[in-house]
Amino acid sequence: MEIGIDTTPDTGRLVREAIDLMRGARIAVLTGAGVSTDSGIPDYRGEGAPARTPMTVQRFLASEDARKRYWAGSHLGWRHFGAARPNAGHVALASLEASGAVAGVVTQNVDGLHRRAGSRHVVELHGGMDRVVCLDCGQHYARQAIAEELTLLNPGMDLEQSIRQAPDGDVVVDEVESMVIPACSICRGILKPDVVFFGEFVPVPTFQAAASLVAGAEVFLVAGSSLVVNSGVRLIEQARRRKLPIVVVNRGVTKGDSRAAVKIDAGASETLTAFAEALGS
Ligand SMILES: [Zn+2]
Repeated sequence: MEIGIDTTPDTGRLVREAIDLMRGARIAVLTGAGVSTDSGIPDYRGEGAPARTPMTVQRFLASEDARKRYWAGSHLGWRHFGAARPNAGHVALASLEASGAVAGVVTQNVDGLHRRAGSRHVVELHGGMDRVVCLDCGQHYARQAIAEELTLLNPGMDLEQSIRQAPDGDVVVDEVESMVIPACSICRGILKPDVVFFGEFVPVPTFQAAASLVAGAEVFLVAGSSLVVNSGVRLIEQARRRKLPIVVVNRGVTKGDSRAAVKIDAGASETLTAFAEALGS
């Protein structure tokens, strides 16, 4: 069979092995940052990634100044994410779901690109940048509406000019003190992008949705994740206990390599495209 990716003979053999394992099986998928790098979204955990100070909930709640800085950086990031487009890997997974091979996608990414590519059953372990939640009353808002309010609350302030990316990947905000951030329109509570912060736990119902997807699967496919995140390791462990064959596609080593039936050291976009071409209806 012709595999549509430029690979060493060894990688080509591994891709065929993975396809044989997955053919006719119900596949649960876990994706990480490596699936979105071809959409221009940097993999902050990958090699050569810039150092970054992660925001914790404690820091976010502790000071208005930290919240302003976070919102400023997040606004810039969201604008960047909004301009990103799903890549061939996202499209391949959506088509595998449409053809019935993939039961659903669990993702560590917050960029929303799986849903935008057409995937329907998506569990976002770390939340989504396109939503905002009130930490006091739990009300959810569309990110677009809050972004527009942020612009309205800061007339005369050129947010794009004031907020920029420093060479170390951190965000520089020139006018952070004068910036006004939106509050909950119901209770005036603190708003936070609906993403899981560093050191925060994945909400229990979200993890349960991911676990039930793995429980109902016959093969577990991990793509573009080095599995350094605890929730990913727990899902791999669950798959292993259920004796599901595990396929890992990632550039570089992952914590799941020793448990994988097949490990393919290659890019997610081209490998998932090869899977979709071979397994599509
Ligand atoms: Zn509220």
